Amino acid sequence: MKITVSEIKAEPKHLAYVEDVDELNERLARGVRDFQVARGIRVAVDYYRAGLDLFFTGAVTGEVVGTCARCLDDYPFPLDRQFAFVLTPRVAAVGGGGQLAVDELERSSYAGEEVDVTPLVYEETILALPTRALCGEGCRGLCPRCGANLNQGPCGCARGADSAVSSRTK
Ligand SMILES: [Zn+2]
Ligand SMILES: [Zn+2]
Repeated sequence: MKITVSEIKAEPKHLAYVEDVDELNERLARGVRDFQVARGIRVAVDYYRAGLDLFFTGAVTGEVVGTCARCLDDYPFPLDRQFAFVLTPRVAAVGGGGQLAVDELERSSYAGEEVDVTPLVYEETILALPTRALCGEGCRGLCPRCGANLNQGPCGCARGADSAVSSRTK
């Protein structure tokens, strides 16, 4: 979603739209984290300027489907992230910023006549994801012998002497 810089005024404007997630999901699929974003993500943003600096505040909401690192089941969870960022003109950022990494620079500055909000929304979404996909803290994972999902109950494999004894005495 692109916003024309000259249309960004001191008076805040509101924008609400649904962001397409295909490209984001491609990016996520390339990473090590097992997440995919379901459908579109809803973006609500207020934007305004103070001098040459552009301010954006808002939220991204939607649904993410994680693939649990322990039991490999897919599980949905809500995405709800507040964000606020300021973009400065790129020339000024280069002059004063010293050794900013290129991607950092792209995230904190703008150049040209339009600001593309999409990469910023993607970035915020990725930041909202947990470091590890787990369907629940208490996920029991898969049986290392038969591969059964232990969240759905014991699989019948004897795990250690204790469980073997207790199942015989029942
Ligand atoms: Zn799990
Ligand atoms: Zn088993």
